Amino acid sequence: MMLKNSYEFELEKIKELIKERRAIRVGLQLPEGLKTKATDIAAEISQETGAEVIISGNSCYGACDVDEKLERIVDVLFHFGHTELRSRKEKCVFIELRSGVDVKPVVEKAVTEIKGDTVGLVATLQHVHALKEAKKLLARFGKKAVIGKSRNLKYEGLVLGCDFSSAAMVPCEEILFIGSGSFHPAGLTLYIGKRVIAADPFTMQISIYEAEELRKKRYVAIERALDAKSFGVIIGMKSGQSNLNSAIALRIKAIEKGLNAYLITMDEIGEEKLLAFKVDAFVNTACPRLTEDFIHFKKPVLSAKEFEVVIGEREWEDIFVFV
Ligand code: SF4
Repeated sequence: MMLKNSYEFELEKIKELIKERRAIRVGLQLPEGLKTKATDIAAEISQETGAEVIISGNSCYGACDVDEKLERIVDVLFHFGHTELRSRKEKCVFIELRSGVDVKPVVEKAVTEIKGDTVGLVATLQHVHALKEAKKLLARFGKKAVIGKSRNLKYEGLVLGCDFSSAAMVPCEEILFIGSGSFHPAGLTLYIGKRVIAADPFTMQISIYEAEELRKKRYVAIERALDAKSFGVIIGMKSGQSNLNSAIALRIKAIEKGLNAYLITMDEIGEEKLLAFKVDAFVNTACPRLTEDFIHFKKPVLSAKEFEVVIGEREWEDIFVFV
């Protein structure tokens, strides 16, 4: 059962699966905001199935971030809050955590911000099941909502911090995003180039994101890197974030341009970690969701496309081309 304002943890399904698989050792991995629930879930599972439960204390930012070390030592690992990106042979089971919050009040509040007659409609996984309901409501206010088909993702209208393809092809000037936090709407406006109205069903807050403003900040970061002589090319070491080949290719390009470049692995990117390296700037090939934070870092941190501008292999106007 899913309660209003709560998440569906699917505990019955989990207990069934543990019994079915005769799992003796079970792992739990929850996103930061929900780690407080971990001990309650562990207690219920071990009480009712007899399994030994081990909770991951590590990060859980996306389906790319499965705790593989824990996965190795358990019979089954339940990873909450994300949907499977590609089928994994390992022992990880994704529990999507749909929210029971009613999205209609915040959608109704957002209507006054929609300037045109048509709007693209997207959401994070927690609210993606409510998009059809939101679409119907918008129609009552005379707004046509288009829920785009995603190239790689399981659900229509779903967006990730690294995949906005469901919003890319929608014929509209604005996007209505249902979800919390700023990195999805910021990424949407940055890469799709459209005005984004972000509607948070939990806080009832409406925020507006404009592409121009955010893109200017990225151009400033690129300008700061134009004189850099040495680059650290960051390779993400989380299970689904490694872009080893593109990192190596970027390093080769840098060397060919007479620059120094070094490959650096990282689980999580933080400014204090970057400052330890004697390079002038960085290129991030791992998770792009921290772009907003990078703006405040002392040394420039660029995306691969932004770096290509620095070395003269891409035009400035082609940075945010969505491919
Ligand atoms: S790479 Fe980043 S944005 Fe993409 S799923 Fe992982 S954590 Fe989310």
